[in-house]
Amino acid sequence: MSTADCPLLPVIGGDLQVPLVDGSETRYVNLDYAASSPALDVVARHVTEVLPLYASVHRGAGYASQISTAAYEHARRVVGDFVGARQDDLVIFTRNTTDSINLLASIVPGETVVLDIEHHANLLPWVNANARVVKAADTLEETLKRVDAELAARPAALLAVTGASNVTGETLPLRRLATIAHRHGTRLAVDGAQLVPHRRVSIAFDGVDYLAFSGHKTYAPFGSGVLVGRRDWLDFGEPYLRGGGAVTQVSLESTTWRTGPARHEAGSPNVIGVAALARAIQELAALDISAWEAHERALRERLVAGIGGLPGVRIHSIFPDATDAVGVVSFSVDGVDSRLLATALSAEAGIGVRDGKFCAHPLLERLGITGPAVRASFGVGSRLSDVELLIAELSRFLEHGP
Ligand code: PLP
Repeated sequence: MSTADCPLLPVIGGDLQVPLVDGSETRYVNLDYAASSPALDVVARHVTEVLPLYASVHRGAGYASQISTAAYEHARRVVGDFVGARQDDLVIFTRNTTDSINLLASIVPGETVVLDIEHHANLLPWVNANARVVKAADTLEETLKRVDAELAARPAALLAVTGASNVTGETLPLRRLATIAHRHGTRLAVDGAQLVPHRRVSIAFDGVDYLAFSGHKTYAPFGSGVLVGRRDWLDFGEPYLRGGGAVTQVSLESTTWRTGPARHEAGSPNVIGVAALARAIQELAALDISAWEAHERALRERLVAGIGGLPGVRIHSIFPDATDAVGVVSFSVDGVDSRLLATALSAEAGIGVRDGKFCAHPLLERLGITGPAVRASFGVGSRLSDVELLIAELSRFLEHGP
């Protein structure tokens, strides 16, 4: 048995039984990690351990409040260490990636350049602010040249790109993008929603100035997100949320806003969600990096080889010259309704994939995908047999129909 036959880390719901259309039950095959990854088993246990000490942070002198505050601040250090933050970077807890990017968009002192391949979360906050959208070229190399030329022609404060596409899984070369951006006095922000759950990231090493990601895609429950990055804009920018905890002094005439993470974290934070995220991250940090990458590579290569040869199947790609891709694969089948296919995979085999436009409408349009597509995605809780089942069921569907 190859190692890819076993999950790298146990996740909740790994043996969940679900009903099939014929009345029988089967194990749920979760191939929808890119939407929300299942929480790790250890994370679920950790949540039950910390729940009894449930208390608001930074407020009370009571024991539970002190423990909560310590856990919350510890989580900040865990997250910062995991993504290779610089000493002076801020780690701000938000609700999710969308929230983090909206926060960043609210404080950027100037124009932002974005590509047209982004998830809506890394597009709409910018286009509604002060942004220029650059059309990606047909190759990554050409796209890098375009970005370079765009920044050279007209300076921008920020370049905001995805780390890994939520449609194709293809990764962008962060170090090279940072070099290009910095050459023009531009900072680099990375939407890490699909990258952080799959790859070891070091923002200091790569020269990334800001990184956003979500807890619910990083093996923790819903409700926690992260923005990590350079302190100056964050300390200077208008507070993203206004309310208790973000201020040092308030009178009816004037308010003194804090600096540091608290400036943007007004209100009672999601202490349990943040503790859960930190616990998930500790597990990911302890993974052998080569085993982690090899596991995903084995599953992805098998999936692409297995479905790529089936009649009418088109696997989508933005950049044919991308050198790396995470466990996210989207495809369309000529003449087949993606919703019907996804529903059949669920009803007949217990396979959970996503169908739709993946919150990336401009990207699907540029890929020539007119209707919805199907996306299979996986991670540390996945097994090679999950992918084998999808290949077998898709072949069966194409041969016999639903
Ligand atoms: N960016 C990318 C690349 C994503 O895939 C997603 C979610 O699918 C987001 C941003 C938004 O994440 P969230 O819904 O957690 O804010």
